[in-house]
Amino acid sequence: TIFSKILNCPDKKNEKNSVADINGFGNNVLITGANRGLGLNMVEEIAKNYGVKRIFACCRDPDKAKDLVSLNLKYKVIHLIKLDVQNDKSIEVAAEEVKKILVNENLNVLINNAGIFEDTFGERTGGSFYFPQRDYWARHFDINVNGLAMVTAAFLPLLQQSAKAGERALLINMSSTLASISLGRIADFLKNGNVAYSMTKAAVNSYTHLVSKYLEKDGIITTCFCPGWVKTDLGTEVAELTVDQSIPPLMKTISNLKKEQNGNYMNRFDLYLFL
Ligand code: NDP
Repeated sequence: TIFSKILNCPDKKNEKNSVADINGFGNNVLITGANRGLGLNMVEEIAKNYGVKRIFACCRDPDKAKDLVSLNLKYKVIHLIKLDVQNDKSIEVAAEEVKKILVNENLNVLINNAGIFEDTFGERTGGSFYFPQRDYWARHFDINVNGLAMVTAAFLPLLQQSAKAGERALLINMSSTLASISLGRIADFLKNGNVAYSMTKAAVNSYTHLVSKYLEKDGIITTCFCPGWVKTDLGTEVAELTVDQSIPPLMKTISNLKKEQNGNYMNRFDLYLFL
């Protein structure tokens, strides 16, 4: 892969198959930001089509997560878990709750999906190069980057256990094409100089690639994805794709991930993106 060339690490193609070559989502999946948008649709798609035993659908306020509660009535595999990625105590309590439900089972897939992008097209957005607001940058980094790292660390032992037991073990981080440093310079996607969100997602890419090196030896596959520009609250109504055009192919690609793709930054069709 291009990563192995850049970092001068050997490709692992010739190694004999290992546990990381198993397909699918395994038995137990956890998704953050699962009450609306892409996260909610991931829950539905996995519940419907991937025969999993449990989906831990995490959100800040399960009592107000109406759509998730309706899904829960339809698919018994869904467990609603309270989790605010900005709050360490909340992450710790959520991890304990998941462990209790799993008893001796393992977590096979962790999808770090929760994220924010405020005032996407605003002319004087606080995320911009021209009118930066410290609290805008702090909030975006705290949720999109710091929160993701804290959640990963809290659930990592359960993923490691899974790989050790010879089961599927995936760490998936939601990124964006806006994270691409090379493409960003060419395209100037937003025309308003909003650089903060792009920087948070570039940090997610960096995190993904760095930790993939550590986790490779445990048998965990770590990747990050752009789902496409999708009509959600975050993507806005003018986005190109519906969730039905984004999530089914993305989930299929995730279910087919191979260890050769460890550390990669991809689109929903498995196409390698440039950093
Ligand atoms: P939405 O705005 O529709 O949903 C965001 C989700 O993140 C909500 O469930 C929200 O919960 C949750 N969230 C926000 N802050 C926190 C927090 N502190 N703790 C826990 N959950 C939180 O966004 P999308 O579904 O569109 O985006 C999902 C992911 O995909 C994001 O990481 C985004 O950056 C990425 N992405 C999206 C694209 C798009 O076009 N839509 C394009 C590229 C990437 P709550 O309801 O409580 O606010």
